[in-house]
Amino acid sequence: TIAMAVIDKSLTTGFRVGDGPIAGSSAYADDEVGACGATGDGDIMMRFLPCYQVVESMRRGMEPKLAAEDAMSRIARKFPNFVGAVFAVSKDGIHVGACHGWTFQYSVRLPNMDDVEVFTVKPQIGSS
Ligand code: ASP
Repeated sequence: TIAMAVIDKSLTTGFRVGDGPIAGSSAYADDEVGACGATGDGDIMMRFLPCYQVVESMRRGMEPKLAAEDAMSRIARKFPNFVGAVFAVSKDGIHVGACHGWTFQYSVRLPNMDDVEVFTVKPQIGSS
């Protein structure tokens, strides 16, 4: 009922709930597996819980890069024009990104690094 109240308020006032507060949509983490964050067209992405998808795919043994690309593909199949990205790190410290509709950058700083390193992710083949 709380969610209903928030949604109802957004309809009457023009406020937007967005994907940020939806667990599994813009972020998800499990210390036994890894973590994932997302950015992009939240109103589309929130319908697919892409961060939950990535972490659960990794839990089932999928390589992190493939898990990230798979989450993007699942959305692109239904919404080919969406723009978004996920970035994930496995519990072993492997970090990856995948995107659709744009070139995406994320940065990493490990404890032994003096500064962040920026990684550029191009849209996967078959993505626009
Ligand atoms: N996903 C955010 C939203 O739709 C925007 C963003 O990540 O840049 O509110």
